[in-house]
Amino acid sequence: MEETERMQPEKSWKSGPELGAMTESLAESSALALHQKIQSGERTAVSVLDETFEAIQKRDAVIGAFVSLNKEGAYQMAEAVDKAVAAGQSLPLLAGVPISIKNNISIQGNAVSCASKILAGYRAPFNATVVDKMAAAMMPIVGNTNLDEFAMGGSTENSALQLTKNPWNLDCVPGGSSGGSAAAVASGQTLLSLGSDTGGSVRQPASLCGLTGIKPTYGRVSRYGLVAFGSSLDQISPFARNTIDLAALLEVISGFDPADSTSARQPVPAFSKTVQDRANFSGLKIGVIQQLNGDGMQPAVAESFQHAIQHMQSDGAAVQSISIPSIDAAIAAYYLIATAEASSNLARFDGVRYGLRVEGEDINAMYCQTRAQGFGPEVKRRIMLGTFALSSGYYDAYYGKAQKVRALLRKQFEDAFQAVDVLVCPTSPATAFKIGEKSTDPVSMYLMDIATVPVNLVGVPAMNIPCGFDTSGLPIGLQLIAPHWQEEKLLQLAHCFEKLAAVPLNYPDSWERVKVNDSPMANA
Ligand code: GLN
Repeated sequence: MEETERMQPEKSWKSGPELGAMTESLAESSALALHQKIQSGERTAVSVLDETFEAIQKRDAVIGAFVSLNKEGAYQMAEAVDKAVAAGQSLPLLAGVPISIKNNISIQGNAVSCASKILAGYRAPFNATVVDKMAAAMMPIVGNTNLDEFAMGGSTENSALQLTKNPWNLDCVPGGSSGGSAAAVASGQTLLSLGSDTGGSVRQPASLCGLTGIKPTYGRVSRYGLVAFGSSLDQISPFARNTIDLAALLEVISGFDPADSTSARQPVPAFSKTVQDRANFSGLKIGVIQQLNGDGMQPAVAESFQHAIQHMQSDGAAVQSISIPSIDAAIAAYYLIATAEASSNLARFDGVRYGLRVEGEDINAMYCQTRAQGFGPEVKRRIMLGTFALSSGYYDAYYGKAQKVRALLRKQFEDAFQAVDVLVCPTSPATAFKIGEKSTDPVSMYLMDIATVPVNLVGVPAMNIPCGFDTSGLPIGLQLIAPHWQEEKLLQLAHCFEKLAAVPLNYPDSWERVKVNDSPMANA
């Protein structure tokens, strides 16, 4: 009891309905409950959407989560949902629940900016597979969220479009690169969102914004229509405010896709049904990653992590320490592999095929000027690093070595999973930092990724679950990591933890300090 109290400093949390501006449907703590109300006819999907856009108009002027809205498409879908209900049809899972998506995921006819100047004017000629899946589930997509340019970063400050603020403390970053999606959910604008996770870009902002977020096994969710950053690492990944909603959203977007050659022929479990199947941690073996056990991390993070382990232990888990020695080389390996792949993937933005074109006296000058003016500093840094790592003479020393580290990591995780069911560590070594604090020091930003990048290098599924707060009331996250394809177990354990730790998944109180203005996007 005492521990639970320490995990929820009363002043930091307010329940949804206590927030003056919070509308009824958005104060719902559950997307599935909202879906049920729509199915039963208690609410119409159109009225839910009206409230969603009202909330976006009021709040996003302060938060800056959205870069564009998709009103027409969203209303068409909501009307179709209401018609289906009126006709007595039974709706697909999550039908009618508004969702936001990161602006590197394609919606046909909409701008896919990747928060970069180089894609100015580009509109997607096709839907991403996840967008088709959400359409089949009759989910209105309300708009596109901000990100670090081309998903490169950990704070969303690398966006060429706008700044996004952390709803818990408006002076802080929401994390990144899917910071717009995290901030949209944490500020009650949408209950669900999709991001992409190449090295932690969903788990880290989920941690910094007090949300649940899962990176699925590589190949579980189609990457078709996601603008590629590091193709061997990227996975579209969902955010929600609780594990049950997260399970439902993962179920909607998962599955084999012939349009993505790296998509796996794996059956999709009914995550939304099985997520509540496990009563407690008894009989489970939990491995604490020795290299990430809290040492050297922010004291509140280390303390909260220890509490989380105690909670699981007292609920029946057998806890042991597991060493994954190559984690010490994971950041170096990730920043070589991810940048190498990015340098190749971003070669297509040349002024001919997409978006921006800056004319020059010949074609080479046009290429150079387009790329010089179109890409921001972090993207340029990564293209140069990646091109260098791949260049002849250096390939073996850098890219080749990094691939060896990746193979070692994979082997070490496989061995670890012979001994334990899941691995645990803090998701981020520190809570949300101040805007501008790390923007001049890229390496200090890269170091924040220590606990998340090994997971992408290995390809296993992992998720963030809120586990406490620091002394300023900023959320702290716990990362759970499972073997390949074991998302079902991962979600069940996260759900058990959610019940155990009783961290209230409510909304931040920063709204009390916020003066709500009319959003510049009111007419978008
Ligand atoms: N922060 C990591 C990076 O900058 C992760 C990015 C991501 O997952 N998209 O590369």
